Amino acid sequence: MTIQRRVTRKVKIGSVSVGGDAPVVVQTMAATKTRDYEATAASVAKLANCGAGIVRIAVDTDQDAEALAEVRRRVDANLSVDLQENFRLAEKVAPYVDKIRYNPGKICILEPNLSWERKVEYLVDVAKEYDCALRVGINSGSLDPEKLREYREKLEHKDADPTLMSDDATFFDPPIRSALEHVDFLESLGFDRYVVSIKDSDPETVLMLNRRFAALKPFVPLHLGVTEAGVPPRGILKTRAALEPLLMEGIGETLRVSLTVVADQKEQEVAAGRSILENVASGVVASISDLDKTKLNIVSCPGCSRTQSSRFVELAHTIDEATVFARSYPLTVAVMGCRVNGPGESDDADVGMWCGGDRVNLKSGGTHVGTFSYEEVVEKAVELIKEKISAMKQ
Ligand code: SF4
Repeated sequence: MTIQRRVTRKVKIGSVSVGGDAPVVVQTMAATKTRDYEATAASVAKLANCGAGIVRIAVDTDQDAEALAEVRRRVDANLSVDLQENFRLAEKVAPYVDKIRYNPGKICILEPNLSWERKVEYLVDVAKEYDCALRVGINSGSLDPEKLREYREKLEHKDADPTLMSDDATFFDPPIRSALEHVDFLESLGFDRYVVSIKDSDPETVLMLNRRFAALKPFVPLHLGVTEAGVPPRGILKTRAALEPLLMEGIGETLRVSLTVVADQKEQEVAAGRSILENVASGVVASISDLDKTKLNIVSCPGCSRTQSSRFVELAHTIDEATVFARSYPLTVAVMGCRVNGPGESDDADVGMWCGGDRVNLKSGGTHVGTFSYEEVVEKAVELIKEKISAMKQ
């Protein structure tokens, strides 16, 4: 079956192209500690060998940046670097990578007196100097705080003034507003070597946001993904439900399947991505209706170099198993590996956990309950889930 794909701008990322007439690129992310460059290089090589066209690596410190240089010496895979708060590391990593991902929700944190526009200008200068592409990587777990504040204010006042929400809803939607703002700014700088991703842990939201963005900026290549899709096989089904319909509509130039698996099993993400493309090519695809929204939704991130404890993946799998009793209840439970998207996702969950080194932060309905050891937190979370189920039955 031939899919009529839209034709976006083509963006070169190392030896691959994303968009234009290029085939959809499957990518993934290393979950080893970046500073352990031997392990990271081995992981990158393995992932590239099994079909990842681009492999992303998280970099937060000078030590990570130095390790990246060592990784580059050992592998010739196409590398993308994931920057969060520490955008100044761009100039240290750019010589060794093909793409730099920045997060509009995190770039505002360091050097708060410097506007986001000046920070993006800096990233563009670095990208040009070192022949890199950029990704504007928007994630619902770490949205631009200013956009969120404005949106919540409008929601609060919409009853008194319905015109606030009757405009083009796009304008009020923080992820779309953020994406449009950054795209327009990059274009105003004359920089067109970028892709955009707009990810959420809810497949239906991913579908809606990406359709909307694709209609507004049809020339911009989209990196598709359901963030924090969780443990396989459900994490794969959630991703299929969003990505397969989008790809059938011709939307999406590259993709990642984010699964909560240990670092040496990340090739499962690549295999799942390739299988999605095969499904789309054969025309047999999943849809949102395959997901039963009345059932328990467990959101867990895939983990990466930033994961605070090697026990995180085990915790996510334990919670998955310990909550079988709750599968038929419409609850969301989040298990997150660190503070990057952890606080945001656990705020949105009925019961949320985000991991530190030895302790796990537990939230109930967005309210902090306490920090617990990895052993204690499972029982505490299960108690909270049982309380919520009892409340539903009353
Ligand atoms: S939330 Fe998970 S995937 Fe995201 S940065 Fe933290 S550990 Fe990595």
